[in-house]
Formats: sequence, C-alpha cells, structure tokens
Amino acid sequence: MPEPILRIAVDTPLRRVFDYLPAKNCSANALQPGIRVWVPLGRRRALGMIVARTTHTDIPASKLRRIDTVIDDEPLFDSVLFGLLQFASDYYRHPIGEVFAAAMPGLLGKGAPVNAQHSVWRLRSDASIADIPKRATRLHAVLHALNDHQWHDEHALADSHADWRGALRDLVQRGVVETSRQATSTTLEIASNAGALEAVPIPQLNAAQQQTLQNITAALGSFHTLLLHGVTGSGKTEVYLRAIAQVLERGEQALVLAPEIALTPQLLTRFTARFGDAVVVLHSALNDSERLNAWRAARTGQARIVIGTRSAIFTALAKPGLIIIDEEHDASYKQQEGFRYSARDLGIARAQRHGIPVLLGSATPSLETLQRARQTGNLLSLPQRAGEAQPPTLKLIDLRQHGATQGLSTPVMMRIREHLDAGHQVLLYLNRRGFAPVLFCPSCGWSAPCARCDARLTVHKRQHKLVCHHCGHEQPLRNECPSCHAEVKPVGQGTERIEETLAQLYPDAPLARIDRDSISRKGELDAVLARIQQREVKLLVGTQMVSKGHHFPHVTLVVILDADQGLFSADFRASERLAQSIVQVAGRAGRETHAGEVLIQTEYPDHPLLQQLLNAGYEGFADAALAEREAAHWPPFTRLALLRAEANDLGKALQFLRDTRTAAQHIKHGKQYSGIQVLGPAPAPMTRKAGVHRAHLLLQSDSAKTLQALLAALIPKMDELPSAKSVRWSVDVDPIELF
Ligand SMILES: [Zn+2]
Ligand SMILES: [Zn+2]
Repeated sequence: MPEPILRIAVDTPLRRVFDYLPAKNCSANALQPGIRVWVPLGRRRALGMIVARTTHTDIPASKLRRIDTVIDDEPLFDSVLFGLLQFASDYYRHPIGEVFAAAMPGLLGKGAPVNAQHSVWRLRSDASIADIPKRATRLHAVLHALNDHQWHDEHALADSHADWRGALRDLVQRGVVETSRQATSTTLEIASNAGALEAVPIPQLNAAQQQTLQNITAALGSFHTLLLHGVTGSGKTEVYLRAIAQVLERGEQALVLAPEIALTPQLLTRFTARFGDAVVVLHSALNDSERLNAWRAARTGQARIVIGTRSAIFTALAKPGLIIIDEEHDASYKQQEGFRYSARDLGIARAQRHGIPVLLGSATPSLETLQRARQTGNLLSLPQRAGEAQPPTLKLIDLRQHGATQGLSTPVMMRIREHLDAGHQVLLYLNRRGFAPVLFCPSCGWSAPCARCDARLTVHKRQHKLVCHHCGHEQPLRNECPSCHAEVKPVGQGTERIEETLAQLYPDAPLARIDRDSISRKGELDAVLARIQQREVKLLVGTQMVSKGHHFPHVTLVVILDADQGLFSADFRASERLAQSIVQVAGRAGRETHAGEVLIQTEYPDHPLLQQLLNAGYEGFADAALAEREAAHWPPFTRLALLRAEANDLGKALQFLRDTRTAAQHIKHGKQYSGIQVLGPAPAPMTRKAGVHRAHLLLQSDSAKTLQALLAALIPKMDELPSAKSVRWSVDVDPIELF
C-alpha cells in the first residue's frame, strides 16, 4: 500500500497547504488531522498542523519531503473546533496556517506539549552502584534520595545536594538512573485575589430576571442564539451567574467573552466569589506559561468556567455547555489586523457546531444582533434596573443657546456644583484624549499637521508634545507658528484640558482622569477605580474607557461634553456607536438608590438621532436606524467585504483596485452573481496614514453566500494581478470600520 500524503498547514501568509510524506518510523495511523508536526520548509524547520490525509499530490516524488517529527499523539483541537477554524479561514479568506497559529497559545505554536509534563527520575532495577567511587559524595547523595526505586520529580530531589542536576546527568550517563516525563496536573492562577472568596450574599432575582433565566435554562442542550437586552444596571451579570450554575450542574463548561476593558476586578471578583477556583481567566496580561496553563485546564475540563477576551473564543473545551458574549456590541470583538475575524460571529458559529446555546448580552445591542433576535424571536429583555435603582433622566443642553467656556456650558457648571455640594460624584465623558485636538495659528490659519498622515497633531500639554493619534509620531510642542512666527493656540477640548478646567472651577473636589494617557498599566486603572469606589474622588473625567463595564454607584450626574462627534460622519455605523456611547455612559449614573441625571451638550438638539434616543430610548433609536439602513442597503440588510490596498503612492493602490474590479466583473459575467455591487475604488477617507497611501473597494451583496462565492473566485485572481506586486492588500469580510 502506498504511503499516505499529509496536507499540512504552516504559519505562513501563503493561502495554501503543503504536502509531506509521513515521518520515518512513524505509524501512519498516528497522523490524524489536528496533530502538530515539525516539517522542513525551505531551509528552515516549521511547526505545522495536519489538515488532511490524501493519496494524491502534484509534487513530484523526488521533491516530496518527509515530516521531521510528530509532536502530538492526539489532535490538539477536537473535531468541532478544528472544523470551526477551517470555516473561519474560508469565511474570512485568511491563510489556514495563520488561523491555526492565532487559535493556539503562543507556546503551543512553538511546539510545547499539549499536556503539561515534567521530568522524573528513578534508580534502575539493574543498577550496579558498586562501580561508583566512594568519594563521589554528590552522586551518593542523590542515589540515597532515589533508593526506594520510585519515580521522583525535581521537588523531591532538590534538597539532596546543591548540584543535584549535575549529579543526575552523571548518573543517567552511567546507566544507573533512568529518566522519563510525567503529566503535570495544572496549577491554576486564581482569577482574582484571595479576598474575593469571602462569602458574598447572592441577590434575589426579580421577575424579569427569573423569566430570562428560565428561558436560558430551557435552551441548554441545543443551539439557540439568545439576545439578552438588559438596560444598564438591570442585573445581567447575575443572570449569567445563575445560568452558568445550571451549566455546571449538567457537568458542562461555560465560556464567557468580555471586552478587555470590561474584564474588571469587579466582574472577576463576582465570578470567583460564586465559583471559586473553577474559573480561569485568559486576558492580555498573562505571560506565555500562564496562558498555556489556563488553556490546558480548559481543554481537560479542570477549569469549568473560562473568561477571556476576543481570542478566548478559540479555547479548547472538554465539555462546552454555554457560550456567553457580554457587551456583544463592542468593537473589540472584531480583530482589525491580520486575521480579521469577529469573535462574536465565530461564537455563534461555534455554538451551532457544538449544539449549545450562545447568549449575547448588551444594554445597547448591535443593530445586526437586534435585527436577528427580532426575526427569530430569541430576544430576552430586562427592561428595568434591578433593586431600588431608578433609570437616569436625560436632558439636552443647547450649546448655541448656552455658550461653553473651555468646553463647559453654564447650566452644566451649575449642576456639577449642586451635585458636589450634595456629596455626590460627577462623571464627565469626552471621547478625545490629549489637551486639544488642534494647534492653530490665528494670524495665518496654519494648524500643526502630521508629516506622515492626513491628520492634525494633538496637543499634549503636560508632556509638552504634539502627538499623532493615528501613527504615533511625536514632536516637541511649539509656541510660535513656523510660517508667520505669530503665537499659536491650542483649539478645542481634550480630556487633559477638561481636567485642568475642572481643577480651576472646583478646587475643593478631588479629581481623576481615566484615558490611555493617564492609565497605561492595568494596575493603575484598578487603583483609580478603588479611589472612586472609596469616594476619595469627586470628579471623574474620561474617554470611552469609563463607559465600559465599570459600576460607579455614587455617581449621580453624568455629563456628555460633546455629542456631536458622531452625528455627521461618513461612516454608516457612526450614529449607532454614538447612541451606544451615550446610553452606556448614561448608565454609569445613579446605579444605587440615588436617581441619576444625564446632561448632553450639543449644537444640534433637534437632530433626529438625539431626539429618538431621548424620547424612545435605545429601542426607538434602533427602529429608526434600522429603517435607514434598510433604505440605504447597508448591513444587516446586506453583507459587505472591504478590499484595502496600501502603496507608496495612491495611483498604485487605485490601479490595483481598478484591476480587481475588472476581475470581479469578469467573474460576475461568467456566473450568476446577481445582487452584488462593486463600489469604488476610492481613496480611504484618511488617504495617507503613517506615510502610506490607502484606497479601498467595497463589495456589497444581498446574500453572504453569493459574496463568499465571489470572493472565493476573486482572491486567487487578485494574487496573480501584475499590479499586486506594488501594493499591500487585505480583505475584510463583515468589516466594522470602513476606513
Ligand atoms: Zn501663522
Ligand atoms: Zn500621523
């Protein structure tokens, strides 16, 4: 019988797999899909994953190489996860080798064993100790520790002699001691500090929470996509915890995804207080071995609950029972570089393949999710806040009527004073960090540009710098205009400037700022949050970092300083994002017994979006926004794929995309691709970024299937276009940023 051919995916940007013969002295039966191997690739050795076995290859026998080494004796991913990764590679049109690499912890990609192992040693039964010289005290010390003929690990031997490792090497060489590897039972990082394990009273569920929990429980054991639309403060987390308890009772595991920024100590404390060390956390602060340990614990089933950010959707699970995606509307679930997947959408695909429910939770669901839930009827609502908490009242402040000084209107300043005098906390939201977005010359009209982007530099006064928020370029802050030498001025407001203004207006109120400049390490955020909890801080100003996941029970006034940023954007998703930010930030107010107040500063108080939001809430806004999307043929009523090209000059990027459009039109003529629109090419709205010129071409389709068929035919053609050589290009299926 001829030897099988193994199709192997290797971590390279090439959209292909590689054919190999089995390793020497290896039973071909051991070579199953999902097993990792080392293979020769060109002149290097690369880690690969067996994707398929076949009997045919186009590679001539003389060039066909053998697998070097087989790493695993069982597949790394079960068949469901393996299938999901292949689907993701197809759907997002991303090389399969890179998809596998993205799905496994870094150390597994370097060949680490899937099951944790450690070295052990024992005395050979036939060992002749007589040959060992008496004066070799080092060797005798270790032999003494091994004289029971049992296996010993390093902990058992470490005390025998200072150079016990050297002695063991010697003894193994002499054939007196043998060594082996044993499986290690994983020791887990407890998700939070030990104090978290103190008994916390379990709150009573209200009627809506009860009903929701019953619906989730009824869905266990089969595939459903459930949307849990709960207003902020409605007790979604408590519903998650109860649902997870049911999953554990069935002997199954729960996978919980949260945006990085919402993975707060507060959230983790609640999980560990309820479930103790059954919980593991996968977040960006873990080192490689912690990540691998957590992943192994999930794969063996030792960890019953896995909480993580986007890439945790690829965690191997022994017995999955429920997937929860908290804050499902959050943009961080979509990877924007390289393998551009949506963890939310893959979460749904994964749940379907496992035959288990997926629960999408949000106070501000994405329009895609909301539309799907309305169609399927799988919409669970928590329309009221849990406990005593009252919903906040929203009010618009017309900036045309009340001019703002340094970003704050008079009514806002007065209300801040009143809330402070009553002993409460005030939160101000501005999604723009730095001191001012523009450095401007009033005399000639110059404003400081980034040399590498079509963008202005942001003033960072405290650091005495001008910084580009798009490419990171920095230069010293200047006082005079380079063209006319007049004095220049910072124009507009950033969080740093608001902080300065607040310190002048309310010198008695301790102040904290939360943005990427003031909080650079995870520990700093925890420390500031603790000071807010302790009510040491009275005034809090922040970017969207404050709007996610945190609970500020003593904040009674929220001020949204500039609602106008998202009102007139070219991006069709901008209004959805604005509405989500407003509702999320507003939700931080008055979450305990004090009713909250939300003031929204705008120059466009009559704008229909703001009116919808104020009069009919997020649901009402969503109705209007969905009607607009349908009329304009945008998602969720159509599907998109964005082809981006970058080059050192714009002409090359546009030429490549024009050639791509021609290729797409040829394919469309040959087959049935009705309902696909090819829009563009056009320069990206910020054409030059970090010195690179960017353009894009948008494919819009009535059906995901047709779009996928077109992409499958088009992408190989794009690789072959002569104009492809002078550009870098990428494909983004279901893009959420059109820039
Ligand atoms: Zn000037
Ligand atoms: Zn720049």
